[in-house]
Amino acid sequence: MPLLVMKFGGTSVANIDRIRRAAKRVGVEVAKGYDVIVIVSAMAGRTNELVEWVEDISPLYDAREYDAVVSSGEVVTAGLMALTLQEMDVPARSWQGWQVPVLTTSAHSAARIDEIPTDNINAKFGEGMRVAVVAGFQGLSPEGRITTLGRGGSDTTAVAFAAAFGAERCDIYTDVDGVYTTDPRITDKARKLDRIAFEEMLELASLGAKVLQTRSVELAMRYNVKLRVLSSFEEQSDDAGTLVCAEEEIVESNVVNGIAYSRDEAKMTLISVADRPGIAAAIFMPLSEAGVNVDMIVQNISEEGRTDMTFSCPTNQVKRAEQALQEAKARGEINFHDLVADTNVAKVSAVGIGMRSQSGVAAQMFKTLSDEGINIKVIATSEIKISVLIDRKYMELAVQALHDAFELDKAA
Ligand code: ADP
Ligand code: ASP
Ligand code: MG
Repeated sequence: MPLLVMKFGGTSVANIDRIRRAAKRVGVEVAKGYDVIVIVSAMAGRTNELVEWVEDISPLYDAREYDAVVSSGEVVTAGLMALTLQEMDVPARSWQGWQVPVLTTSAHSAARIDEIPTDNINAKFGEGMRVAVVAGFQGLSPEGRITTLGRGGSDTTAVAFAAAFGAERCDIYTDVDGVYTTDPRITDKARKLDRIAFEEMLELASLGAKVLQTRSVELAMRYNVKLRVLSSFEEQSDDAGTLVCAEEEIVESNVVNGIAYSRDEAKMTLISVADRPGIAAAIFMPLSEAGVNVDMIVQNISEEGRTDMTFSCPTNQVKRAEQALQEAKARGEINFHDLVADTNVAKVSAVGIGMRSQSGVAAQMFKTLSDEGINIKVIATSEIKISVLIDRKYMELAVQALHDAFELDKAA
């Protein structure tokens, strides 16, 4: 039988009523003749609550126990979804990550899926099961411990299952009806895109657009999974939502196609470090060993052989970064006068594959921010994106101003 993967995010399974509504959507596809693998997230807010409990007990927690705790939200929804389907007379059962098993690396809280053997689930399909409900976001390490795939990881579970089982399509049901030019919560001028290229979606996701986890887009691109984002709250036609697809399948496109933002940024500055060969390695090696994900980096012009080095990293890694740098200082590997962390910053980025062939986007972006009186603290660019770090209080304003300046409310 043809197979579909349907993933329901936290708000789509936030309570029993919504689980029933999602199960009905699954029932529609089963009635059409599809076998379905349903991937569920934890109920909305649950994972945050679990993370808070862990951090409350242990700020520099053991990541293996973090995973044991935060993976539990999905276990509950998988069971509830299977029960709801059974009540509708749809043959269904739930699977936790380790039961499938979803085999991952041992990078706890940021594990990668290595392999998903299909035999167990296929055997059950062979016995008449129509829906396998799988707990998203979790897997099993080579050491036999439960892992999680990073926040938003159920999207990645869904795409990985679609690839492993050769699904006809991977539908991501969420609380918006597709991918927009920017987060529709920030401006009502945000426009829904019928299609978006893998490369653009990849950048938007990695720059903070929560709608898909970055890794899920990478996998869809690599395994050519037909990936669609759509709303679980509205009746859906077969071409609803946004299709994430190859660049060649898109006819018209703007130079800038999306604005992303991330609140989860901190700026750290090492004041007055010796400017000598090897200094960058001496700073960033210990950070990397401590698992700090450094994003933007700026080194100031040096005066009398000393310079300031600034970098950005996720807010929840500031403590780890401070610890790693102070230890490197204590070992005599680096020397700095002060270490300053600024957690009141946000990153705003413009993304578009059209930037490859058109210049002037950066200039227009800087001019727009300057007209709004917004100071830029750090800049980073790549072939198809420009990112700036600014004061967090200006984040919404910056997104709205850039959305207007690049006329993203108008289709190409
Ligand atoms: P789920 O719980 O279904 O996984 P998420 O909260 O992870 O849902 O992702 C959906 C949210 O992503 C939307 O509610 C929206 O606020 C946010 N979002 C950010 N950028 C975009 C964008 N460009 N298009 C659509 N949604 C976006
Ligand atoms: N529940 C997890 C999270 O909130 C995974 C997911 O929803 O995709 O990050
Ligand atoms: Mg999500």
